[in-house]
Amino acid sequence: MKSKSVIVIGAGIGGITAAIHLARRGVKVTVFEKNSHAGGRCDRFSRDGHHFDAGPTLLVMPLLYQAEFAALGTSMREILDLQRVDPTYHLVFDDGSRLALTSDMKSMYEQLEAFQPGSFGGLLRYMDEGHRHYEIGMEKLVHHDFRKAADFFKLSHIPLAYELKPLVNHYRNMSAYFDDPRLKAAFTFQDVYMGLSPFDAPATFSMMPYTELAHGVWYPKGGMYSIVNALVELARNAGVEFEFDDSVERIDVTGNQAQGIELTDGRSFKADTVLANADLPYVYHNLLPRGGESERLARKRFSCSVISFFWGVDKTYPQLNPHTLFLADDYRDNFKSIIRDLDLPDNPSLYVHAPARLDPSMAPEEQDTITAIVPVGHMSENGEQDWGAICDQAREHVFRRLKTIGITDLDSHLKFEVNYTPLSWRKRYNLMKGSTHGLCHNLTQLGYFRPHNRHSQYKNLYFVGASTHPGTGMPTAMVSGRHAAKRILDELSVS
Ligand SMILES: Cc1cc2nc3c(=O)[nH]c(=O)nc-3n(C[C@H](O)[C@H](O)[C@H](O)COP(=O)(O)OP(=O)(O)OC[C@H]3O[C@@H](n4cnc5c(N)ncnc54)[C@H](O)[C@@H]3O)c2cc1C
Repeated sequence: MKSKSVIVIGAGIGGITAAIHLARRGVKVTVFEKNSHAGGRCDRFSRDGHHFDAGPTLLVMPLLYQAEFAALGTSMREILDLQRVDPTYHLVFDDGSRLALTSDMKSMYEQLEAFQPGSFGGLLRYMDEGHRHYEIGMEKLVHHDFRKAADFFKLSHIPLAYELKPLVNHYRNMSAYFDDPRLKAAFTFQDVYMGLSPFDAPATFSMMPYTELAHGVWYPKGGMYSIVNALVELARNAGVEFEFDDSVERIDVTGNQAQGIELTDGRSFKADTVLANADLPYVYHNLLPRGGESERLARKRFSCSVISFFWGVDKTYPQLNPHTLFLADDYRDNFKSIIRDLDLPDNPSLYVHAPARLDPSMAPEEQDTITAIVPVGHMSENGEQDWGAICDQAREHVFRRLKTIGITDLDSHLKFEVNYTPLSWRKRYNLMKGSTHGLCHNLTQLGYFRPHNRHSQYKNLYFVGASTHPGTGMPTAMVSGRHAAKRILDELSVS
């Protein structure tokens, strides 16, 4: 019998994962990717012996990776050379105080009690809640594929309304555990990974600081791109074919069927099923006939963006740890500027990554490789943001913050700079509005309410990736790949 065929648009984490699941079941899979290599947002580049992870820098939720690699028939520990990063982050506050988040509870006790007497007890209670949210959230939400309303709105889900605190504001919830605003910030900043402000996010997301401390933040030797290399190898071994430098111009549709795709160079390809890994709002807006759904999606809430600086430096800065986070005092205003005003805050919180602390081969000997990430608003409708000027301001903020930890001469030791603004994110990966995490994860855009991974009209068109269920992040993109592949296999009746 002729094998079924699937075209995947985009070689991001979700697309490659789905492709492996499908190919392992005998489906003929071809992945068309606009860029010259796989990985999508999990990208990398090298210059003069400096190696940069251009997107993700943190391997979080290791248990989820472990489960997803096992579902692909392999062992995460065997194909990735992992080391635990502990302390996970070194936090630096505006008043000069510092906090190293670590799984060493004696150290946490001493550090937290110095911030606010009695707060260690608060941390233990908060971790207990985070643990509950993580376990329930994984079982009932992340691993669950919501194909129809009845999968979500069922009696057994009613207790989730209080078990997961979806209706409780995350930041307000912190008052039950800590008084000191620095500690409230230290255990909520992870919401920005979901594209959310802790002042809007549900308290459900206490699962993130919990998993970072309990299960660890990890680093694969060679950087995060080694995950992409591992997935591509699995895909090729399963028979997946990759076509790079091939940008899809449109998905060909007739009636209620997708027929295949047309590339920008005019060539077209047919398949039984099309699976879009390019970000979902972009696919509706750019690759399909425009309609009500693409307009509705464009009006949904998008996550913020970031300005990233990649610096090759001719000396080393031992003051820098692998992951340093500068958290601003005006925490609330930071999020208001980014999320409501689509702007750069006056005194932005920002993140600095020094990968050579974890893997010396990421920089030439006695030199450093530094990445700084400054969150900013996504692109506005009117296009009035001057990204060149905003990028210059963001760089000044990074230099100013680094001075507070004794790095005063970085600008005179730069060998080169590469920077990405929201315009770069849009151009490189077709991310609508330059939004780095796609559709954000507020209550009305989660679970069953997130756009579904099957098109409502074109029955053989599916979606996978950050703007689908379960949402942004590398391991969640792998989950999304498994869900999408399972649904396609069910539909194609491949047993
Ligand atoms: C700056 C940044 C930092 C991050 N940090 C972390 C982190 O530390 N940890 C973590 O777990 N996650 C992190 N993430 C999130 C994570 O990178 C993403 O959620 C995940 O990689 C998204 O995968 P995806 O499956 O949605 O595919 P995407 O990465 O969106 O890939 C889609 C692919 O489709 C291709 N494509 C688009 N349009 C077309 C077209 N017309 N034709 C052909 N191909 C097309 C794109 O080029 C791309 O390769 C970060 C993201 C960013 C941007």
